[in-house]
Amino acid sequence: MSYDQLLPDEFFTGEDEYPEGFQEAIDAVIKGGNRLLESNEEPDAWDVASGLLAGAVHFWLFSRQPCADPLCETCASVATAELRLGRLLEEVKQHCEESEYFHTPLDRNAGSA
Ligand SMILES: [Zn+2]
Repeated sequence: MSYDQLLPDEFFTGEDEYPEGFQEAIDAVIKGGNRLLESNEEPDAWDVASGLLAGAVHFWLFSRQPCADPLCETCASVATAELRLGRLLEEVKQHCEESEYFHTPLDRNAGSA
């Protein structure tokens, strides 16, 4: 695996003001993914990235479990599996749209707009 296939560690750094823990979590995922690519003999970047995403989804869902109060306003937006999925997809879409890797010069529709 050549180094240029690793995601730069400074990705996202300092671009916005994130809540405490947010930037550290991004760094941990990127560094963890790069470490896996470097330490495996024949790493598959897609498998590593999908594994990181799976772990992130599980962690996100774990963090969004509603409390026992059925009238809790804080938990209202995550009170059902469907609501949680909607919130999760909304966040994923936002991160895609903010990513410098979302559109690439090699996109099959690049330049056709
Ligand atoms: Zn609650």
